[in-house]
Amino acid sequence: MKKWGIYAAIGAALYLFPWIFPNSYLIHLAQGFLYTYIVVVGLNLLVGLSGQLSLGHAGFFAIGAYGTALLNNAGVPFLFSLTLGTAICAAAGGIVAMLSLRAKGPYLAMVTIAFGMLIEIIANRWVEVTGGPAGLYLNSPSLLGLSLGIVEYYWLIALITLVITVLADNLFTSRVGRTFQAMGSSEVAAATAGVDVRNWKVLAFVVSASIAGIGGALFAFQNSYFNSDSFTWDKSILFLVGVIVGGAGTRLGPVIGTIVIFLLPQAFQSLYDYHLLIFGAILLVSLVLLPQGIVGSLGRVKGKRREALPLAKEADGAREALGTEVRWAAKRQATVLDIRQVVMEFDGYRAVDGVDLTLQGPEVRGLIGPNGSGKSTIVNVLSGVYVPTAGQMIWNTRNVTSFPPHKMAEAGITRTFQNLQLFSELTVLQNVLVGFHLHYTSGFFANLLHTPRFWREEERLREEAMHLLAFVGMAEKANEMAANLSYGEQRLVEIARAMAVKPQLLILDEPAAGASQYEVDKIVKVIRNLKEIGISIILVEHHMEIVMNVCDTITVLDFGKKIAEGDPAHIQKHPQVIEAYLGGEEVTKLVVGE
Ligand code: ADP
Ligand code: MG
Repeated sequence: MKKWGIYAAIGAALYLFPWIFPNSYLIHLAQGFLYTYIVVVGLNLLVGLSGQLSLGHAGFFAIGAYGTALLNNAGVPFLFSLTLGTAICAAAGGIVAMLSLRAKGPYLAMVTIAFGMLIEIIANRWVEVTGGPAGLYLNSPSLLGLSLGIVEYYWLIALITLVITVLADNLFTSRVGRTFQAMGSSEVAAATAGVDVRNWKVLAFVVSASIAGIGGALFAFQNSYFNSDSFTWDKSILFLVGVIVGGAGTRLGPVIGTIVIFLLPQAFQSLYDYHLLIFGAILLVSLVLLPQGIVGSLGRVKGKRREALPLAKEADGAREALGTEVRWAAKRQATVLDIRQVVMEFDGYRAVDGVDLTLQGPEVRGLIGPNGSGKSTIVNVLSGVYVPTAGQMIWNTRNVTSFPPHKMAEAGITRTFQNLQLFSELTVLQNVLVGFHLHYTSGFFANLLHTPRFWREEERLREEAMHLLAFVGMAEKANEMAANLSYGEQRLVEIARAMAVKPQLLILDEPAAGASQYEVDKIVKVIRNLKEIGISIILVEHHMEIVMNVCDTITVLDFGKKIAEGDPAHIQKHPQVIEAYLGGEEVTKLVVGE
């Protein structure tokens, strides 16, 4: 395989380096490059994929260094102390993640800064243990009782670098990487696909911190001596510059980014006093000029960055998908949704004001009303995005009132979004694969190692995803980046992704908004097919011809209250409904629906 050829070439180059450059200064430099690269790879998984910022990775680097060094000094064999040091970092990563879980954006960054500073202070002040600025002396690293010289230690670092590169790449191209990326792209959409965002954020942190810890440990033994000066805050910034300049979320970014951050300090040695300023400037310039980083920008030019996958069986896909769907449907009991007196208040404003809604068995329920009448708010409550201020929601005899989105998905309720929420960094097919989240059974290590079991499942679900794409008429765009689709196409892909959850109740929030007439026709056809399959649908829609044509029953909202309910004919004649729509173009829409 091509991939293994590349790995073999990299491995050979790494192995040959000391033969080609038998110069201890260069080998030393190469060691430094490799452990820095390792940290950047780990940080890239966190920042680039899962969308969480860390300004404290020097803290994990330090924990890896001290943990491994102190254990080794206490007599634990080198490799074992490296493993334990990494485990300590994993735990620290978990703790930092949990502390920052409720924080977002700038606050998350602050938690990580605080962590980095705390570790820096401990390293500096807890002299009895860390040696502080005076430092810590270590034995030279040894394997199986053999002490490693500079070249042997270089080879060990190179081997670990290669292994981490392969494993990180495996994560990138597995469902774990996709889930990280989905979460980084749209948390709410990932959650409605069944992703427990909290746990997955912690996982991303744990993985990233562990890798940074390995980098730190390898650093610690490089000179058999280090001190607390190596873990200052600017090191965290340096790692981040590496991720962002190289191209956050790209697979090659860390290589390029590490080259940049490695060469920079050498180039600016005489300007050391200004190094933070220089890093900051580079960060800013690269964010403005190359927001995708060097690799991302090159990739964009070449139109690359997608996994080409076979598009077989498109023609039969729709029918087969239907077959699959019917099989899901057959397992279902009659859908029963019972919403009682649901209220949703925002700062005292009642966006939804005591609404009752019941569904009995598969039907298409229209939910209409003027702008701002509370339709999307009901969708948000029903999909678990908001917990209602008051009222109760019973779903198949379970009380789901305060379920978060991923629990709703598990219970069989999912949705699409009025303001599109596709994972723009993923392809169309990958978007649908994220939708299968709850149906994947392969675990973290199967994904990390790309085991046969992982591949079997991946191939099976890819095929199923292609069927779903065929079902919505988007199969030929499977390898397209989601961001490149038209509005209507994005809405169709959102439906396919929602179907991958295999829901019993699918809530569509304005699925035809912004779609062309051709796409609207497609969407109507899809909704009809979904109904035929036996999926219950709640359809929020402004296009009255769609609502009147596909809905069995229509519920009308005005100012957060239900003002009417009945079949389309009944609703069109309802005086209160006409009044609610009166005065705008809305009333013409209502009539046009006839
Ligand atoms: P619709 O989908 O029917 O157009 P929405 O449910 O989006 O209406 O909004 C209903 C009302 O609730 C609007 O007045 C809107 O401004 C308000 N609203 C919705 N979400 C929020 C929120 N998160 N915070 C404050 N007000 C909100
Ligand atoms: Mg809305």
